[in-house]
Amino acid sequence: MKQMKKNVVIIGGGIIGGLLALILGTNGFKVAIIDRLQEDKIFSNSNNVKSYALNEGSCRLLNVLKIWEKIRINSQPISRILLKQGSKISSIQPFELSFEKILIKNDHIFYMIEEKYLKKALFEKIKICSNIEYLHSRYVKQKKITTSSAKVLLDNGLEINSDLIIGSDGYPSSSARQFKIKYLKYNYFQSSIVGILKHDLDHENEAVQIFLPSGPLAILPLSNNRSSFVWTMKNNEAERRLKLDDQMFLNEMNCAFQNRRGKIELEDKKYSFPISLALSQKIIKEKFVIIGDTAHKIHPIAGQGLNLGIRDVAALAEILILARRLGEDIGSKMVLKRYERWRNLDILSVVLFTDFANKIFSSENYILQFFRGFGFKFLNRSDFLKQYLIKEASGITGDVPKLTRGEKI
Ligand SMILES: Cc1cc2nc3c(=O)[nH]c(=O)nc-3n(C[C@H](O)[C@H](O)[C@H](O)COP(=O)(O)OP(=O)(O)OC[C@H]3O[C@@H](n4cnc5c(N)ncnc54)[C@H](O)[C@@H]3O)c2cc1C
Repeated sequence: MKQMKKNVVIIGGGIIGGLLALILGTNGFKVAIIDRLQEDKIFSNSNNVKSYALNEGSCRLLNVLKIWEKIRINSQPISRILLKQGSKISSIQPFELSFEKILIKNDHIFYMIEEKYLKKALFEKIKICSNIEYLHSRYVKQKKITTSSAKVLLDNGLEINSDLIIGSDGYPSSSARQFKIKYLKYNYFQSSIVGILKHDLDHENEAVQIFLPSGPLAILPLSNNRSSFVWTMKNNEAERRLKLDDQMFLNEMNCAFQNRRGKIELEDKKYSFPISLALSQKIIKEKFVIIGDTAHKIHPIAGQGLNLGIRDVAALAEILILARRLGEDIGSKMVLKRYERWRNLDILSVVLFTDFANKIFSSENYILQFFRGFGFKFLNRSDFLKQYLIKEASGITGDVPKLTRGEKI
C-alpha cells in the first residue's frame, strides 16, 4: 500500500478548500487536497456561469493572498444597491430601498467576480506552492482516527496519514457523513436559475434585487457592461422556465425586472441550483473540522454563502497557524474548540438572517406585508440604520480574523 504523511488533509477542493490549502501551504504546512473532479473540470473556464458578490472582508483576504491583483481587472464594484418589490407582492405597503448614498460614502465595499476568474487565479497559486499536493479525481473510501493520527484511505489505495482532516466538500458532504455529523435542514422547495446577461443599457454599477412572491430576482453588475442574474423561484416554476427557449425566458425575466437594462440576451447557458438550508449541529470532532457549505448551506438571497465560508477559512487558518507555532497538536479538541467558539455566533446569525429575509420578502400574508412596507419606509429614511446594515454585511465588523482585516497571520 502506498503511504503519504501530511499535516492536514482537505477533502473538497472548491474555492473554500482551495483557499485554506493555499494559506496553510504558504505558511509551512504540508497539505493534501482531495477532489473528486478531474483537473480540467476544476480549472475549466467554460461552463462556469456563477458569479459572487464579495464583501470587503473577502476582498481583503484575497488581497493578502495576492489573488486580488489577478482578478481585480475582471471584477466589478457595486456602487448602488436597490431593493424593490415585484409586481403583486404587496399592494398594501410597497417598498423600495436604496443604499446608494451609503455606498458612495464608504467607497467600494462589494465587488462582483465571476467564478471562473476567481478559481483560475486561486488554482494558479496552488499549483506553484510546493507544500500542496492536489489529488484530482479521488475520493476518500475510509477514515481512521486514533489519538495520535487521522488517516484517510483513497479509492486508488493511497493512505494519507495526517494530524487533521478538514471537510470542505460542499453539501451534501460525504466527509461529514463519514464523521457522523448531523444537520438541521429546511427545504425551501425553491431553485435558483443563474446565468450571465449582455444588455444595451449601462448597469451603472447598480445591483438590483426584486422581490417576487415565489422568490427574489437579483441582477448584479459584471465587467464589460454585463450582468449576472440569480432568479430564485418555486421548483415547479424553475422547471418550466428552464424548458423555455432563451427568448421566452428573457421576456419573462425582463417583465419581472421591469426592463431596467433594456434589450437583454444570454451570454452562455443558464443553470439551475436547488436551494435549501443545512446547518451542521457540530463543526468539529476529534481531528476533524468542517468549513464552508459543508458546515452551512444557506439561501442565496443576500449573497453571503461564500463570504461566510471565507471567514471560516480565515479563522481556522489563524488558529491552526498560531497553534503550530506554539507546538500544540492542531487536531486536538482543545485547539479545534477555539475555532468552534469563534465561528458559532457568526454562522448562526447569517443562517438566521438569510432564512428570515427569504421568508419575510416572499410572504403574501397581509399583516406581514403591512409591517414590512412600513419598516422599509422607515429604514429608507434612516442613513444611520442603512450604514449599520452595510457595515454588518461588509464582513469587517466584530471579532473578525486577521486575514479578513487585511493583515497577515
Ligand atoms: C445560486 C447561488 C448563488 C450564490 N451567490 C453567492 C454570492 O453572490 N456570494 C456568496 O458569497 N455566495 C454565493 N453563493 C454561495 C456559494 O456558491 C457557496 O457558499 C460556495 O460555493 C461554497 O463553496 P465550497 O467550496 O464550500 O463548496 P463547493 O463549491 O460545493 O465545493 C465543494 C468541492 O468539493 C468537491 N467534492 C464534493 N464531494 C466530494 C467528495 N466526496 N470527495 C472529494 N471532493 C468532493 C467538489 O468537486 C467541489 O470542488 C451562491 C450560491 C448559489 C446556489
